Amino acid sequence: MRRNIDVHQFESFLKKDHMILTPGKRLAREIVEAWTTHRQTTQPVAFRILVEPVDAWLERAWINAVEDGRLPLQRLLSTEQQAALWDDIIRKDVSRNNSFSLTQPRATAIRAKAAWDKLSMYGGSEISDLWRHFQFEEDCVVFARWARKFQDQMQKINGATRYQAYEQLLSLPAESTPIALYEFPELPPITRTALEHLSELAVITPKITSHDDRVPIVRRFATREDELAAAAVWAHSMSALPDKRSAIVLLDLERDRAQLEYFLRAQFDCLDAQYNDLPVNFSTGMPLGMTPMFRDAMIALQWELRPLSRSDWLALMRSPFFPGLLSNPSPNALEVVERLFRSGITEISMDQTLHLLTRYASDTPLKAILIALLSDKSHRGKKTLSAWGQWIRSRLQIWRWPCRASLDSIEYQQLDRFDVSLDALGALSAVLPIQTHEAALTLWRQSLSNIAFQPKTPHDSIRVMGPLEAIGLEFEGMWICGAQQGVFPRAPRLDAFLPASIQKRFDFQELNGPRLLAHSQKLLEIWCAGSTETVVSYHELDRGLPRQPSGLIAGFEGTIETGWFPPSRWLALRQVEEMAVDERVPMAAQQSTGGSGLIRDQASCGFKAFIKHRIKVTLLGSEAFGFTAIERGLLLHEMMFYLWHGLSSQAALLDIAETVLLERIERAAMTALNKLEADAERSGFSLRARVGESCWQLEQAFCIDVVTAWMNQERDRKIPFTVVSLEEESALNISGLKLTLRPDRIDRLEDGRRIVIDYKSTAPAKSRWLGPRPQEPQLPLYTLLDQKLKGIAFAPLTRDTQFIPLGNDLGLTQTPEKSLSQQTKGWAEDWDKLVAKWASALEELARAFLAGVASIDPSPSACQHCDLQPVCRIEQIRRTQRSSAENEAFE
Ligand code: SF4
Repeated sequence: MRRNIDVHQFESFLKKDHMILTPGKRLAREIVEAWTTHRQTTQPVAFRILVEPVDAWLERAWINAVEDGRLPLQRLLSTEQQAALWDDIIRKDVSRNNSFSLTQPRATAIRAKAAWDKLSMYGGSEISDLWRHFQFEEDCVVFARWARKFQDQMQKINGATRYQAYEQLLSLPAESTPIALYEFPELPPITRTALEHLSELAVITPKITSHDDRVPIVRRFATREDELAAAAVWAHSMSALPDKRSAIVLLDLERDRAQLEYFLRAQFDCLDAQYNDLPVNFSTGMPLGMTPMFRDAMIALQWELRPLSRSDWLALMRSPFFPGLLSNPSPNALEVVERLFRSGITEISMDQTLHLLTRYASDTPLKAILIALLSDKSHRGKKTLSAWGQWIRSRLQIWRWPCRASLDSIEYQQLDRFDVSLDALGALSAVLPIQTHEAALTLWRQSLSNIAFQPKTPHDSIRVMGPLEAIGLEFEGMWICGAQQGVFPRAPRLDAFLPASIQKRFDFQELNGPRLLAHSQKLLEIWCAGSTETVVSYHELDRGLPRQPSGLIAGFEGTIETGWFPPSRWLALRQVEEMAVDERVPMAAQQSTGGSGLIRDQASCGFKAFIKHRIKVTLLGSEAFGFTAIERGLLLHEMMFYLWHGLSSQAALLDIAETVLLERIERAAMTALNKLEADAERSGFSLRARVGESCWQLEQAFCIDVVTAWMNQERDRKIPFTVVSLEEESALNISGLKLTLRPDRIDRLEDGRRIVIDYKSTAPAKSRWLGPRPQEPQLPLYTLLDQKLKGIAFAPLTRDTQFIPLGNDLGLTQTPEKSLSQQTKGWAEDWDKLVAKWASALEELARAFLAGVASIDPSPSACQHCDLQPVCRIEQIRRTQRSSAENEAFE
């Protein structure tokens, strides 16, 4: 098998024990490995290997000089410490100046640090009238203010950046240590100068191949997804060849990595159970904070800062690393979840959760954990970041994190990095003094995202890397993705934080088109030299926008390739399993199963009734803003109940004065709102807090208006009436199905007839009472309870007060009522026949429910407000039906 490195390039230096310096860590590691293997086979005696990245060697030289007293004592700040300092300066500056707000202060801090580093590596920070150049553009003015604060802070903490340290090395006497430098890409000017000052430099140049010797294969794709999917297929086929190593180089690593990883997982079948078995080595690894174990730990810690969103709360409750409610769910735990979600709250606090746990699931470990967390106030005040590190450790111990009994090997590797992350947090104490709880958690999250987690994978796995990491390595095959115009080479660009005059004066590489082109050209030649077969690809469309190929490959021909979906492995494995259709699943025994909603659901869709009333699936309530439709309906129902409970007849209503009635209505509104709030309190949340005071007042005023209008309407009814029943419960046995019914109100007219009234927030049309599948069967069901019932009516509780009645001469409307035959559009000529038809239709529906008829056959508007579409897949059924119909029409 070939080694990753051609050691002969380095052999003469290594044999003489000369130090070899590389641009990055990866190449240094590969040289050490290759040379160790080579020497063990040829000369199994102990030997020294001196290979290091350039920056590590120079930093060590600086530290040695400081320790020897040749340079003044200073603290060399790490990249993370510098970024944290910039971040702190920028946040404080923005809040103090109040001039603009940054959506991503961290990203701005990283850009500011990069700009300052660039200035330093070109020696720009040393020019005498530096800040004079920054006064002409707004971004530069702001950056100059931040940079001066950065300099002040650095002085205060006696700190030095990497490039300041290199500058200081030039003050030491020159040395002539023999050193071999692998020189690509070009080093920053200050790095090169410092290196030359301290050593006798020999240069190792990378092997290059001109296109005449080894021509890359160019592949052209329709879209970015097509391109990445094809690279994954290629990697999979290469991995099947014995002893072959291949690499995918992503020219835009940051953007394409996640999508490529998905395609690779799909190709290697590592999306689910074998998630950790992907034989691919990603050079950048995964930020530790994105791993499920640390992501959930962060959610748990943040819960003490503020309530969690519903999705975060659910993620924590389901996390295998925490003893949440749903890691091993009991019916009581599910009750807590259901109640929290039914409350409509958008964010869930620790107090709310504890309140419900105490009431419904007091034996869960989560309750004891929440009590321990809430009673401990150690998160208050400010502490050093090292102290916050200890606090994080103790908090996670209270949470028993990571409580999973058997962590797999990848999870163990991740857990091993926990101490590293706390050390990284503690190291920030050098630049940031005492911090608050919130700031400490933000900094820990940043530390977690700075730590790349790279699971240990087989040595010769497929590699995915950025453009510079592939330099000097050798592969059987290399695929370079994303060779687009503007990316390879990069388009020249100015740094917005630095004045153009300075960037031009120092000839920054990012501004120099010919140098960028030469750099990319050389990169391509180096890649071709290191690989037996090199594929370079590009795409023509990205999110609907046309993209051009890089000028470096535009001359090569390539055929267009499209269509990664569906993946070929799906087609290969496609199998259809025949299943017998379950026509129906009868109920084992007759039992009381619900109220009128059961028959309504059976009428609108058998499947819906089966799922809701037989399987009894509970749907989690959605987030609510203001009052929900159900809460508004309950309020008005409650007010009407309270008022008619006191009045009991039209005569009594006509007898009381307007002002007294208004007082009663206002009292009814207050009582109804208080009851709703008390019910919410019992469920563990404050309705008043959720809807807000203004919304509360508005709803109260609206309810008073609506009910006042309705009382005037009741006064005007032509036939005097007495209210004989208010929300009284009755049992009905219909074809063996026992239902519990609760009519809103039953009135007795002065001639002894009775009518049943149902309050609605919006009134349906009369037609929904009729037909073999009445869509609103609630009132027809009530007529089966009492033979004296001779009419039904909806009372829509809106400002537009109009009864929707069905019956003969009920006196509910101002206009003369039509005959029953006209009202039912000929479906029934008189009341008795209408009731008989209802009885027959409702009995049929009851029998269908008992027999388990669960066909997906919804009535016209049934699916509109139904949450079961993911279960019944009605859309897929409709699509299939539509395409069959179109095919038939075509034939
Ligand atoms: S979405 Fe339509 S078809 Fe599906 S269960 Fe609901 S009502 Fe029935």
